[in-house]
Amino acid sequence: MICLRYWSSCGVIAAAIFMVGCLSGKEDLYNETKIIMGTVVQITVAHHSEEQARAGIRAAMSELQRVDDLLSVSKPGSLVTKINREGSSGKIPVGAEVFSLLRDTVAMSSASDGAFDATIWPVAELWDFDKGGMVPKPTLIASKLPLVGYQNILFDDSAMSVGFARQGMGLDLGAIAKGWAVDRAMEKLKSLGIRNAIIDAGGDLRIIGARPGKDFWKIGVQHPREPGALLTTFSLRDTAIVTSGDYERFFIAEGIRYHHILEPATGQPARGCRSVTVVAATAEEADACATAAFVLGPQKGLAFLRARPGLQGLIVDDRGALHWTDEAFERMAGR
Ligand code: ADP
Ligand code: MG
Repeated sequence: MICLRYWSSCGVIAAAIFMVGCLSGKEDLYNETKIIMGTVVQITVAHHSEEQARAGIRAAMSELQRVDDLLSVSKPGSLVTKINREGSSGKIPVGAEVFSLLRDTVAMSSASDGAFDATIWPVAELWDFDKGGMVPKPTLIASKLPLVGYQNILFDDSAMSVGFARQGMGLDLGAIAKGWAVDRAMEKLKSLGIRNAIIDAGGDLRIIGARPGKDFWKIGVQHPREPGALLTTFSLRDTAIVTSGDYERFFIAEGIRYHHILEPATGQPARGCRSVTVVAATAEEADACATAAFVLGPQKGLAFLRARPGLQGLIVDDRGALHWTDEAFERMAGR
């Protein structure tokens, strides 16, 4: 089997969106980069005090690390790993914040007719994208598909605990946790008096305020087929923008591109889109909606995004054609 792997070990090339901007005005820009959640996290703060800016960045980085330690599906000590190990035998107390996140994932699953489904883990595990990826045997995928189904997550509201209705089920919050973590980290920055900042976790961005001397931050969206090139740019403030694409984690075997966004109904990489970019009030919503729309495909995905209030999106289909949720969003794009 001819198998070409296109991989960026630290996600630098994979970053779906990156900033284009520079210094100006009275405040200075402070920027730090770290690898967290298996991706490149870049935090930029505009502030008159370097000490305050760096303290904010440190606190935000720690928050991202905390969430990764809590929700990673591959860390043996994480809460998600515990749920996956023990959740079929009884309900696991998860605390208010994770309980609420898991409720959000189920809401996203029903809103997207199951296109978004965090119980994808038994199938996602077979593809092994963390180690470069491999095509699993069809019989193996078929044997795991009955374990995929968000309806089989059991919730106990009074104990704030969760479990599974079927033995062998597992959670993978990879399509929502990064956005959720970015929102939490931005709350940390705000609580420390930061008013102008960007947190970028490998293409999941939350933005507050503006760049010094401007009333917006300029954000570039990665072209899904030209590494390092921009598809378009947006001038944004106080919002979140997230891109999901088939170019972030993928390999090519016998001429077919296999990537990490899976169709829960078949267990195969979702076809029809190259990338989906979503602008929403929170990075959590933008992250989950970008994945959901990607799985739904260009037509249904666009209808899904349009039905959600306050949300705008851009889908690049498998031929490279661009589909916008609305003309106002298209006009915002600086191509
Ligand atoms: P990225 O994290 O690379 O930005 P996404 O947000 O689209 O991309 O999330 C993809 C990840 O989500 C996969 O690596 C996998 O862990 C998980 N996943 C894959 N397919 C689905 C799906 N249909 N619903 C929910 N999660 C998914
Ligand atoms: Mg996502």
